Amino acid sequence: MPDSMSVRLHLYRIRVIEVMIDLPERLEVVVRDLRSVVRCPWCSFKTSKVHETRRVKVKDLARGTQKVTLIWLRRRFECTNCGERHTETHPAFDKRMTARLTRAIVRDARHLSITEIGRRYVLSWHTVMAVVKQWSALLAERRAKRPCRVLLVDETSLRRRHRYVTVISNGETGEVIGIVRHRDFRALSGFLTAQGRRWCAKVEVVVTDGSPSYRGAIERHLGHASHVVDRFHVARWFASGLIEVRRRVQRTGEPGESPVFSPTIFRTRYLQLARADELDSDRFARLAHALMQDPELWHAWRLLQQLYEIYDAPDEAEAAQRVEAFVYAWEAAPIPEFRSVLKALAEWLPEILAFHRCGRITNGRLEGTNNKLGVLKRIAYGFVSADNFAARALLWCPPVAS
Ligand SMILES: [Zn+2]
Repeated sequence: MPDSMSVRLHLYRIRVIEVMIDLPERLEVVVRDLRSVVRCPWCSFKTSKVHETRRVKVKDLARGTQKVTLIWLRRRFECTNCGERHTETHPAFDKRMTARLTRAIVRDARHLSITEIGRRYVLSWHTVMAVVKQWSALLAERRAKRPCRVLLVDETSLRRRHRYVTVISNGETGEVIGIVRHRDFRALSGFLTAQGRRWCAKVEVVVTDGSPSYRGAIERHLGHASHVVDRFHVARWFASGLIEVRRRVQRTGEPGESPVFSPTIFRTRYLQLARADELDSDRFARLAHALMQDPELWHAWRLLQQLYEIYDAPDEAEAAQRVEAFVYAWEAAPIPEFRSVLKALAEWLPEILAFHRCGRITNGRLEGTNNKLGVLKRIAYGFVSADNFAARALLWCPPVAS
């Protein structure tokens, strides 16, 4: 069978013995290790005495749509010196798969869905998921030991408002360190307990989304670190005041009628949330035109800009002064919708100002990390199992090269 013998596997130290099946959809090849002499792992004497040979099926990379299975003649050697037996291993094989197939799956798991990977390598969903889980368990173990200076704590849901998980990542490298079920005190506290005191002691800054349930766990385990509320979340709190005002004033019809919106105000709703210095003159003119429609909206916009300026302050003292200035400006013409903003400011002031105290270190780095977490949150939807999601997430968020 000269044709069959031309199958080349390009596998190190592997010899093709026989081609069993060569169909368009399936290739099965019998292979064995090139070596005939091995070292005994017990006494390190050389031996070539084969006690028995088993046929082990090993999956390999598919060739296009042709599924490839290797039948590995795996030998059990008997030592002629000490009499002990051992089963051979081979660097190209990783359990029931070739190492190169495992590597390809792990590489693709950073950007493809499990189903897509399965289709690409002609494997079942469960086979792919098992490889991903195995690898992420190794990764998790390695990453958990590495010290982390800036810890990022975030929450995400696998279903809208259901099945929450807490995502803990390294704020400087972007790598996910762990994912735990739920988003409460116990979830974070349990994770930090498992990490151990020595690891916790090395955390200098912890960044959260400002959810009160994490606060207790941070105070207990990371009391020495600076707790910062992620500025993106704070910006969202700030913007909520203006959004509420806009929703009230854009309505032009009488209550009870079907709502009629002022198009000028409604269409500029995103411009209203932008920072004034980020708008070009065209956009600014459109925004100014809309703001002139309603004095309250104009005032609300001024208040929001004033809030944004807190983050531009050169230091903590100046930031604190700007917070105070905002409170005075609000009191001069109190808009009810900004009451919740004031409440959030009062409750989280130390964590908001901590941004400046920590030398604004969280800024640039976190943007990249936040984007990745955003993508992660989108892929989280549709996951049924928190464990499967956790396995995916670890591969999805590897460290960013710095
Ligand atoms: Zn031996």
